[in-house]
Amino acid sequence: METVHNFINGQIAESSTERFGAVFNPATGEQTRKVVLSKAEEVEAAVAAAHAAFPAWKKTPPLRRARVMFKFKALLEANQDKLARLISNEHGKVYSDAVGELTRGLEVVEFACGIPHLQKGESSANVGSGVDSHSIMQPLGVCAGITPFNFPAMVPMWMFPIALATGNSFVLKPSEKDPSLGLMLAELLKEAGLPDGVFNVVNGDKEAVDVLLTDPRVQAVSFVGSTPIAEYIYSTASAHGKRCQALGGAKNHCILMPDADLEMASGAIMGAGFGAAGERCMALSVVVAVGDETADKLLASLSESINKMRVGPGIVDGPENDMGPVISAQHRDKIVGYIDAGVEQGAKLVVDGRGCQVEGHDNGYFVGPTLFDDVTPDMTIYQDEIFGPVLSLVRVPDYQTALELINRHEYGNGSAIFTRDGETARQFSEDVLAGMVGVNVPIPVPMAFHSFGGWKRSIFGPLNVHGNDGVRFYTRMKTVTTRWPASVRLETHDSHFTMPTMG
Ligand code: NAD
Repeated sequence: METVHNFINGQIAESSTERFGAVFNPATGEQTRKVVLSKAEEVEAAVAAAHAAFPAWKKTPPLRRARVMFKFKALLEANQDKLARLISNEHGKVYSDAVGELTRGLEVVEFACGIPHLQKGESSANVGSGVDSHSIMQPLGVCAGITPFNFPAMVPMWMFPIALATGNSFVLKPSEKDPSLGLMLAELLKEAGLPDGVFNVVNGDKEAVDVLLTDPRVQAVSFVGSTPIAEYIYSTASAHGKRCQALGGAKNHCILMPDADLEMASGAIMGAGFGAAGERCMALSVVVAVGDETADKLLASLSESINKMRVGPGIVDGPENDMGPVISAQHRDKIVGYIDAGVEQGAKLVVDGRGCQVEGHDNGYFVGPTLFDDVTPDMTIYQDEIFGPVLSLVRVPDYQTALELINRHEYGNGSAIFTRDGETARQFSEDVLAGMVGVNVPIPVPMAFHSFGGWKRSIFGPLNVHGNDGVRFYTRMKTVTTRWPASVRLETHDSHFTMPTMG
């Protein structure tokens, strides 16, 4: 069986660990690879390689660093099919969704191609008479990225294109559930001309992560994953003097107003609730319907659409499925446990996705689309991030109750409103406690040139990923104030005995 190793100093580095993780094809339930769970000294070797490569890469002109990104972008495009198949085979999402994730990652690479402009810094002439100031945005050194299973390509690409383009070196620790993408990205970066040691990949679990959080050579840590781990990463990295951005979990709500275009909203909610089997941090998992009539109409529309959904493997010869399997048997059982709890706690199960069977894929990790009505805030299916294809409908009498409900939830990643009324949408955008807001847009993921991040317990740390925040995160500002003594031009050759002053 193929073993997924590490990539250190420009080449595959075989690990001597005796600990391995199993990598499965979630559509078949078969183990396809094993991944090394690296020892601490192997992670230290990756950090050492990144540390050694940093000084020369830092001095490389931004234009040349950008040219590596341009080549990397072309290689990502040329290898799109291979990459998307690998994503689908290890993660389970359908092929077109894997292409979509690659595209969103590629857009960050495109953003990073503009780094000579983005990293220009600031400049002021005459901050005092004859005195000028300019700031330099310098790279930090070795940066680390620790990423989740649900976007094995896009989430690492939220981080390293900007880190590398700004002149840092990088160590990526991908999810051990779908680790192969990280190595392919490393090979493509090398092919694009990135010097050895500037980008390294270590596979592993907590033991590997803890080295990245504590090694003094690591200057900054970017993390995306669940909230309890994000909190641990942020507090540990910060306690060791590192800059840290740690993005956590979510429970994204949308409000459905009585005046909304119901057909449009229903279609959007279907895609946002069940796309990628609900394993997106921006998945919509709660619909808050204002008024019983609105809720009843939506329920009828969703039930009809769910019945037409095709659930099956991510890669097929014929027409594509709408939804693939979830990541693992354990995760499937956890989702089923939540559905059981929803029923026990009194929610009305309108569509039951438990026991979903896909012909010819008896051992795949499938959960069918599931719809609950009459969900209340005290239920665990409302409170917890299920991270599966389970949509909850909460009924409220008015807009204000809907808004207060959203604002009380511990998470604040994305949120959306469906309405035809501009004033309501405007008020919602202003008052909702969430980092990303959609108006008739169900998954408001900001583009690469904006920044991505939630509020409340969906993020720890002040700076979001990509966009201007990304450039800020991976650089530190140095401000130089300059005055030149009276030059040869004015030279009188007389001595001056008065105290020099500004202004
Ligand atoms: P996870 O927290 O289990 O794992 C994320 C990473 O942390 C992995 O690389 C893993 O190896 C590592 N890790 C796990 N346990 C650790 C520990 N005890 N100590 C140190 N490192 C540890 O998350 P996951 O299951 O891979 O991903 C799903 C979660 O990620 C969901 O909660 C989802 O909402 C979240 N997510 C958030 C965003 C966002 O932008 N906010 C984006 C994608 C995913």
